[in-house]
Amino acid sequence: MIQPQWFTKYKPQILNVIRVAFALGITFVICQFKLDYLESWTYDLRVQFQKVRPPSGNVRLVSIDTATLKEIGRDPHATDHTMALLNLLKAGPKAVVYIFSPSEVVGSYDELKEFGDLAARFPNFYYAADTLHRKGVAAELKLPSPLDGIKVMSGPKTEDQRIFARDGVTRRVILSFEGSPTLHAHVAGLYTGSETWDHYRGTFDYLGSKQVYLNYRPAGTYPVMSFKDLMTNTFDPGQFKDKVVLVGRDTLENTFDYVATPYSKNPVSMTTLEMHANMLDTLIKNLAPIRTSHWLDLLLTALISMITLYVVITLRPTEGLILLILTMLTFIFVCHALLSLAGVWVEMAHPMLAIFICYYFFIPYRLIMENRRSWEYYQRNRLLTQVEELKSNFLRMMSHDLKTPLARIQGMADVVLTDTTPLSTSQTQAVKTIRDSSRELSDFIGSILNLSRIESKDIKLQLKSRDINQVLENVVHQLDYVAKKKNIEILTEFDPLFSLKIDEDLLRQAFMNLIENSIKYSPENSKILISTEEKDNNLIVQVADQGRGITPEDIPHIFHKFYRSWDVQNSAIKGSGLGLFLAKYFVELHRGRIEVESEINKGSTFTVFLPNDLKEA
Ligand code: ADP
Repeated sequence: MIQPQWFTKYKPQILNVIRVAFALGITFVICQFKLDYLESWTYDLRVQFQKVRPPSGNVRLVSIDTATLKEIGRDPHATDHTMALLNLLKAGPKAVVYIFSPSEVVGSYDELKEFGDLAARFPNFYYAADTLHRKGVAAELKLPSPLDGIKVMSGPKTEDQRIFARDGVTRRVILSFEGSPTLHAHVAGLYTGSETWDHYRGTFDYLGSKQVYLNYRPAGTYPVMSFKDLMTNTFDPGQFKDKVVLVGRDTLENTFDYVATPYSKNPVSMTTLEMHANMLDTLIKNLAPIRTSHWLDLLLTALISMITLYVVITLRPTEGLILLILTMLTFIFVCHALLSLAGVWVEMAHPMLAIFICYYFFIPYRLIMENRRSWEYYQRNRLLTQVEELKSNFLRMMSHDLKTPLARIQGMADVVLTDTTPLSTSQTQAVKTIRDSSRELSDFIGSILNLSRIESKDIKLQLKSRDINQVLENVVHQLDYVAKKKNIEILTEFDPLFSLKIDEDLLRQAFMNLIENSIKYSPENSKILISTEEKDNNLIVQVADQGRGITPEDIPHIFHKFYRSWDVQNSAIKGSGLGLFLAKYFVELHRGRIEVESEINKGSTFTVFLPNDLKEA
C-alpha cells in the first residue's frame, strides 16, 4: 500500500498521538466504573499497615460483658444501672453515652423512673440512636416515659451495606444530617469547643449528610472497664473525670454489638462500643483521612496508562515487566506513605486497573508489530542472502576466469625472459614488471577465492600427515626470491618435530601470508627469523621480523577482514587486508591460534600455536 508522503514523514508522531489517545480512552472507560469495593479493599490494606496514632485519651469505655452477666446472673436491670450511674456521677465525667437503648433496660415503673431521673442529672447524658434524625419527625427519637428525660441523638454506625464498598465494613462517621449535628459531632464539640462540622478535615457531602472517614485504631486499643466494676464501685474514679464515657455491650449475643472494620471483615471483629470511641476520637483529634478528588484519580490513571503504554511498546518484555512492577510498587508505597503519614487517601483502584488493562491491551498490539517487523527482517534477510550468494558466485566465477589468462601472461613473460634472443634493458625491465604484477594479481585473486570459499563454508580439511618444518622450508624457498630483492635474510631455527595431520595447502597459505607480510613490512637489509619448537602440548611456529611494527591501536583489528593499518594504506606497500584474516581462519580450522607481539620500528613477532593432538596417532 502506498502511503502519502506526509504520513511517512510524520508516521512516528502520528503513531504516538494514536497511542496516547488510546491510553486516554482506556482511562476514560476505566474511570466510568465505580470500583468502590476494590478501592476500599486497597484502602483497608493501607489502614492495616499504617502507623497507629495514639487515642486522644478523652474517651473511656464501660462494657456490659460476660463477666458482668456472670456476676449478677442476668442482664443488668434498672436498679443495677442506677447503682452504676450513681458511682459514675461521683467520678465527674463530661458526658455519658449509652450505645444501646435504655428502653431495653427492664424494671418496675419506679425503678425505671429512678434510673431515668438519675441519668438526667448528668450534664450530658445521651442515648446514641442508630437512626437519623429526620426533620419534622423529631418525636421518633424520644424515649418512652419514664425515660423521656434522657436525651436521644442520632449516632448511627455506617456499614457500607448498600452504598460505597457494599462489604458491610464501617468506615465513615456521619457529622450532620439535614443540617443538624449528630451525637458524635456534638460530643466531640464538647472538647473542640465547636459544634459545627465544616472545620473537620476530609468532610464530604452524601445524601443530605456531612461525613468523614474514620481514623481507625485496631481493636483492643481502648481499655474497657467491666460494668460490674462500675456497679460495685471497684474502680478508680479519677479515670472518668472530664471524660466521655461510652456504655455498651460485649456479650457475644447480638451481632449488632459488633462491626466489621478495615482491619478485619469478620462481622464481630470490633465492638460497636470501640467503634464509637474511634469515631469520637477521629473528630476530637481531627484526624479523618482526606480522600483525594475524582480529578486526581483521573489524572493518575491517565499517567499510569501512558507509562504502561510506553513501557509495553518501547522496552524489551522482561525489562518492561520489571519496570512496570517497580512502578506499581512505587505507586503502592507512595499511596501507603501518604495515608500513614499525612492521612491522605489516594485512589488506587483505577490506576492499578489501568496498568493491567493497558498491559493486556497493548501486549497483543506489540506482538503484532513485532511479528510484522520480523517478517520484514526475514524478507530482507532472504534478499540479502540471495545478493550475497550472487556476489560470491560472481567473485568465484570472475576469479576462476581471470586466473587462467593471468597464468598465461605470467608464463609468456617467463618465456620471453628466458628466450635466447637478447632484449634491450628497458624491454627486460618491462617484461619483469609484467611478470611481477601478474603474480601480485594472481595472489590477490587467490585470497579472494579463499575468502569466498570461507564465506560459502565449502572448506573441508584434507588432513594428511606432514612435517611442519618441511612445509615452512618450502614456503621460505618460494619467497626467497622476493626477500632477496630487498636483501632480507631469512634465518630458520627448526627443532625436530613429529609429523602432524594437517591440511597442507591451508597451513602453507597461512605461513606464506605471515612470512610474506614480514618481508613486505621490513626494511631492506633486515633479518627475519623463523623458528619452530614443541612446548606445553603445542607446536609453536614463530615468524619474527625487524620491520615497522604495528601500533597498539591496530593490533586488535589486524586479523579482521580487509583491515589495513592507516599508515600502510597511505604507503606504497600493496595488499588486500585479507592475509592475516585467512591465516587466522586456516590456523583456527586446525584448532590452533595466532598471537602477535609488536613494537613500533623494532619489529613484530607472529606466533602460531598448533595443538599437539594433531599428531599422528
Ligand atoms: P595486508 O594485505 O594489508 O598485508 P594483512 O591482513 O596481511 O593485510 O595484514 C593486515 C595489516 O596488519 C597490514 O595492513 C599491516 O598494517 C599489519 N601487518 C601485518 N603483518 C605485519 C608485519 N609483519 N609488520 C607490520 N605490520 C604488519
